[in-house]
Amino acid sequence: MGKSTYKPKKIPLLFSLGIGIPCILLGYLAFRGVKNDQALLEKERLNEQHEILEKVTESIEENIISAEQAFSYILKVNEKIDQPEIVSALDSLSNLYPLVEEVFFYDNSWVIHLPLSQPLFLPNGSIQAFPASPPFSLSNEKLLSGQQFEFQDKNYQKALTSYRQAFEKDSDHQMRGGLLNAIGRVQKKLSLYGDAERTYGIIARDYNHVPTEGGVPLGLAARSEFGSLQIVMDDTIPAIKTFLDLYKDLLNREWILEKAQYDFFSQHIRQSVDEIFLNEGVNDSLDPYQNSYKLLIAEEKKQKNNTERLLTFREDVAADIRAKIPRDPEAFRTSSHRFTLESGNHTYLVSLLSGYAANESIENNITGLLFNSYFLKDSLLQKTLQTNISSVNTGWMVKGRDDRTILQSENLPSGRVTARTNFTGGFPPWFIELYHQETYLFETFLTSRRGIYFYIFILLTGILIFGLILTIRTVSRELELSKMKSDFVSTISHEFKSPLSSIRQLSEMLQSGRVPSEEYRNQYYDVLVEQSERLSLLIDNILDFSKIEEGRKEFNFELIDVGILLQEIVNVIQDQVRHKEFDIKLIIEKPLQSIKADREAISQAVTNLVDNAIKYSGEARDIIVRAYEKNQYLLITVKDFGTGIRKEEIDKVFERFYRGGDEFTRTVKGSGLGLTLVKQIMEAHGGRIDVESEVGKGSIFTVSIPLGLN
Ligand code: ADP
Repeated sequence: MGKSTYKPKKIPLLFSLGIGIPCILLGYLAFRGVKNDQALLEKERLNEQHEILEKVTESIEENIISAEQAFSYILKVNEKIDQPEIVSALDSLSNLYPLVEEVFFYDNSWVIHLPLSQPLFLPNGSIQAFPASPPFSLSNEKLLSGQQFEFQDKNYQKALTSYRQAFEKDSDHQMRGGLLNAIGRVQKKLSLYGDAERTYGIIARDYNHVPTEGGVPLGLAARSEFGSLQIVMDDTIPAIKTFLDLYKDLLNREWILEKAQYDFFSQHIRQSVDEIFLNEGVNDSLDPYQNSYKLLIAEEKKQKNNTERLLTFREDVAADIRAKIPRDPEAFRTSSHRFTLESGNHTYLVSLLSGYAANESIENNITGLLFNSYFLKDSLLQKTLQTNISSVNTGWMVKGRDDRTILQSENLPSGRVTARTNFTGGFPPWFIELYHQETYLFETFLTSRRGIYFYIFILLTGILIFGLILTIRTVSRELELSKMKSDFVSTISHEFKSPLSSIRQLSEMLQSGRVPSEEYRNQYYDVLVEQSERLSLLIDNILDFSKIEEGRKEFNFELIDVGILLQEIVNVIQDQVRHKEFDIKLIIEKPLQSIKADREAISQAVTNLVDNAIKYSGEARDIIVRAYEKNQYLLITVKDFGTGIRKEEIDKVFERFYRGGDEFTRTVKGSGLGLTLVKQIMEAHGGRIDVESEVGKGSIFTVSIPLGLN
């Protein structure tokens, strides 16, 4: 017994090991291979990244060098740098090299010059004021009396006449401009708005650049007044146009202004325009003006920023640069001549070029370039990085000296820094860092060059596992069957042995006449009949089973009256088990149709079911056999109130040799063939067998035979 339970466990185990170990080994090798692959890829990637960084920095440095060379050339071949031709040559060169923001040089008294810069305004105090007292002339008399009338007597009419007379007599252009301005002013005071508008129109046209006493260009002041008059006269749209045009001209540097002057007019324009928009409220027709106004404001912000940057450079940084200039020409050529200087929020990238007379003393011969760090960063570096780094797994970041991020890739850098570089000589003073998103091992599996092996491995493993499962199932089923068969043989021997020995004993006793009374004798006969019936049922079952299994069983179909047949069967069995006091009840609902069936087979099937009911009744003594017709089927149910069948066994009871319960504690005799045979018989009749059962309450077996066979 021990051996037969050991074997089925051992074979699948050996089999699994036989397949499993090579699988694990193969898997491990594949894993190792891919790991190596990953390391190799990582190394390659690292090299690649260093190459990329080298390429990027080289490309930026080349750009810087080529700009330096181009500008050096012009500066060297020309003796005097502030000549208009040279300035225009430098100017067009700077258009070719957007990297260069400014060229600078120092004059003999170490004043720095920025010939290309066009600031929006100059520092306060850098424009010389218009001479306060113009030369005395006849017209001046009239001018003075006009001023007397206007400011002291407040007699504007008389003032207007005096100014007009002065204007007619004076031939000095500057004076005439000033007088026209006074005329316009008085006309406005007299509420002669139309006249005033005309006067300011003339000033704007003919005296545009003529400065007033305060140094403000007349054209600028006149146009501003013109716009204000339009507002007074409710010419809203024309007023907006006037102010927007003026704003545009201011930004186009139509007039050279000091910072204070610029700020005054810019502010005045913005206030006027804001006021108009505010008064007009929501109005679709103003939309285009509003849009161009917004653009102008943005443009002003940018230009102001640039101007301030250049002014700071001129005022603060120039001295720092001067301090860095080496005194010795040789030292200049060998040492680094690129610097990063900072002032306020501004960073200046400066390169000193040797002077236009390089062989002479360095002092006063220094020229230099101010690089456009925005262009360098936002256009040049960004584009170079973008074109050189195409992998989505690689992010990059440009950081400043203080580790602040000044630029980064679109796919936000994450993961760890895999490569890092700075520029030669720390110019520009930035670091570039590359980040690599870790690829997961699994990803490498699929993408590595050994990916094909991985797929093959997966496929093979799949096939092996499938085969393994199939084999284990077949093997264990076969093992189970062979165990059942061997169990069967031993059970059958027992089955034969015990009735046979009791038959022999009883017959011997009867033969020798050693039976005490008639009653005992009759009881012995009953037992003899029961035992021999059981033996013959057993033999019938075995014979029929093997016949059906081998396909040799023949069924003789004939018309049978099931009611009568059942009555006979019940009578016989009742008789056999009379001494055990079983009560087998037969209920036949309504007269039944005859069916075409094999009488012997049906009888055997029902006998088996009733026999089982008796065997598994336990203490219960009632059995109910019922027959009725339903849905073109004849149904025979055999109900007992005995042990019942456990849920997990219920599907197995019809299997060959299957015997329920625990083989060691089993007391009921049997072959495990009874229900199998019933099932086979039912199938031969086109019918079926079903069971309902509850442990401890009993079972109902139902066979259904189609009536259609009639
Ligand atoms: P056996 O010779 O063991 O009775 P069967 O094929 O007739 O073989 O039945 C198979 C198994 O089904 C039995 O061993 C028993 O466990 C279970 N069985 C059959 N009929 C009944 C029943 N009426 N009540 C409880 N269990 C039953």
